[in-house]
Amino acid sequence: MAGAALNIGNLGKIEVEGGPVKQFIFTHFQPAVLLAMILFWSLAPDSIAKASVAVGIGIAFKVICLGLEWVSERHASWRLTWKELATDVFYVAISYTLVKFAAKHIGSKPAVDAIKHYFDIHTPWAAHMPLLLQALLLMLIFDFGQYWMHRAMHNWYPLWLTHAPHHYITQMNALKGAIGNPIEIFLIGLGIGGFFDFLPRAALLAGAVSMAIGAYTHANIRFNTPRWWLYLFNTIEHHSLHHSQDYESTRCNYAGTFIFIDRIFGTCVDDESELVGQEGGRRMSIREQMLYPFLPLIDKFQTWRDRTAMPVPAE
Ligand SMILES: [Zn+2]
Ligand SMILES: [Zn+2]
Repeated sequence: MAGAALNIGNLGKIEVEGGPVKQFIFTHFQPAVLLAMILFWSLAPDSIAKASVAVGIGIAFKVICLGLEWVSERHASWRLTWKELATDVFYVAISYTLVKFAAKHIGSKPAVDAIKHYFDIHTPWAAHMPLLLQALLLMLIFDFGQYWMHRAMHNWYPLWLTHAPHHYITQMNALKGAIGNPIEIFLIGLGIGGFFDFLPRAALLAGAVSMAIGAYTHANIRFNTPRWWLYLFNTIEHHSLHHSQDYESTRCNYAGTFIFIDRIFGTCVDDESELVGQEGGRRMSIREQMLYPFLPLIDKFQTWRDRTAMPVPAE
């Protein structure tokens, strides 16, 4: 792929500072990890290729990314504090427990399974395709749905209420992808990939790659990201612009993994931002993030209660 032919706007301005070894590592880290994931999930024996291992790898990978933030920091203003870390760990714990539980029992998977069962639909051919193709299709199906859900969240107020808490983060780091109201995290996780009988390890590979890209897109890391990668994948550059303080600038770069979906639908902006967070960077508390989607309802209830309250008799 000819790098010069790819139009990636204002990206690539922030480069890694340091010697040749550091330059080499932070230039090739992302493609090397992608290759390692493909090899691991293709070759691992069945006793290892299971969901619990994927969870362990996911947690270890996020810790590694936090280490990379320390070695090659993108912005000092995004440096992790103990307060931010405590909030982030709380949300990561929720994403691995509560949200996973909800997705398993009331999400799209049980609905898709029920429809398949009712109409007796089987797609055995799906599992006979090359593993990499299965994983790629799964990621494309999921990301296509996520793109439209995320875009709808930025354009329809009731959905924005669920997504807004994610836009009240005031700094970026590798754990910030988990921050948000659980309703939003649940909605963005809906997908119809389960319609096809792909191999379980194809789902594990797809999940691993999406997890890594999701960590990069929120990480405070300087990479010398290759141009072809910036063209294909969502990055911290694209996603920091999506998180920028000015609301109009947030209405772009909606894809989770593949930024080329935004390119296809004309919503990609190849730029970045250091200043992040709504209302000029107001940090929202966990309590407010949890209640935020219900604020209009709470407001209405309080107005109704005040109006119907019995007048206090004069003494
Ligand atoms: Zn958003
Ligand atoms: Zn984000």
